[in-house]
Amino acid sequence: MPQRLLTRRRAYLRKYYAPRGAARALKGARPRAGELGSNGRPNGSHSPAALVAAAVREGLRKLWEEEREAHPQRSGVFYPSYIAHCLRKQYYTYTLGEEPTPETLAVFATGRGVHDAVAEALGAAASVRVASTEQEVTLNLDGVALSGRADVVLAEVGGRRVVVEVKSASRLPDSPYPHHVFQLQIYLSALGVEDGVLLYWDKRTGRLASFDVRRDPSYVGRAAERVRALMQHLASGAPPPREALLTGGLWECAHCPYRRECRPGLLPGIPEGSAVAVAEVDGALVDDSERRRAALAAAGVPGDAPPWRLTGEARERFLEAYYAEEALRLDGPGPLLARALRRPGGVRLVVVTSRPERLRAATEAELRGLGVAPDAFVMAPPGAEDDWRQRMLELLAEEYGIALVLDPDPWVRRAAERLGAEAPRPRGRAVILAQVLPARAF
Ligand code: SF4
Repeated sequence: MPQRLLTRRRAYLRKYYAPRGAARALKGARPRAGELGSNGRPNGSHSPAALVAAAVREGLRKLWEEEREAHPQRSGVFYPSYIAHCLRKQYYTYTLGEEPTPETLAVFATGRGVHDAVAEALGAAASVRVASTEQEVTLNLDGVALSGRADVVLAEVGGRRVVVEVKSASRLPDSPYPHHVFQLQIYLSALGVEDGVLLYWDKRTGRLASFDVRRDPSYVGRAAERVRALMQHLASGAPPPREALLTGGLWECAHCPYRRECRPGLLPGIPEGSAVAVAEVDGALVDDSERRRAALAAAGVPGDAPPWRLTGEARERFLEAYYAEEALRLDGPGPLLARALRRPGGVRLVVVTSRPERLRAATEAELRGLGVAPDAFVMAPPGAEDDWRQRMLELLAEEYGIALVLDPDPWVRRAAERLGAEAPRPRGRAVILAQVLPARAF
């Protein structure tokens, strides 16, 4: 691997990937708060500022450990807050133990503060009556149990008992996150309460978003299935498949402390440390502008309408037509195709595309027709989030030297630049369309 790429990769690992605090031990890590004096120079290790910052870190760690000790892992007992998370991550939690990263401690501390504040606020409000806070809850499932604590149980809201689950967030969601709904559903079933509320508190702006959740008994069966699967893997010692990676939930990989063990960015057939070029198909290797125009017409909207603004049925019709296999015949050579073909020798080509898996064979054939033979092919799983390609790129960078990124999405190119990779901007008429249709919109 060229020295230049090795240097970039190390810099990236230092900045973004610090499992078990290893990156802090690397030379060159930036000083943390409390380590810099007012002159911008590092404080001496015995200065009050450095001692206070160290004390906060030490105290946070202690509080986190106390919390864990109060709820030790017991055989046959699982946590409702974990059960919807990547099964492989849960497996590592039980087999390798938990080691809090600075991020874990920050989430723990802010979450605690927000929970306490909301519980206190509800207690002070005259319109509701708090029955309990931090109530121990256990749901028994055929010999195993899901055991956790419900944040707030309200004795009465508009004549009904309600369980409130509080989450701090850096951005309020438009709808509740599925893993939070899962957790709350376990509490509702365990307590026999019909109504729940997921309450998100934006910790930067103080704004709130709350969502009604009605008890759905099907979650109990789903929880039992997941617990059984986890127990089988724990008994056999074989880690479960990379669930978050396979379902497109890469946000979970991005915060997962077990990436070093799991290695979600390592591709079969491409050894770690290789130099790679990462390319999207539509808008980069392939000119999709004709196909897009045809799909917009099929959706009944003008050909220059921004597709990412489509909603409801129009959006469904557009996606169906845009990703129809027979529509691929409208494609032509893309604006970055030549750049992919003249990449330096030894640089492997990895296609990371938002096209759905069902188009794999057709896409491979289309690329072959354009003279492109990728070394690896990663297609978006059904649940892929908007920023899937960007996150995938960041995972790949933990295993490979990213030399070149060919993608019409400016967010992906920005991530590439942060990684020190070359990320040329597509140019030309076809590309202007490609740029206003980032695949993240799908
Ligand atoms: S890195 Fe991703 S796939 Fe692997 S255990 Fe963590 S969350 Fe799961």
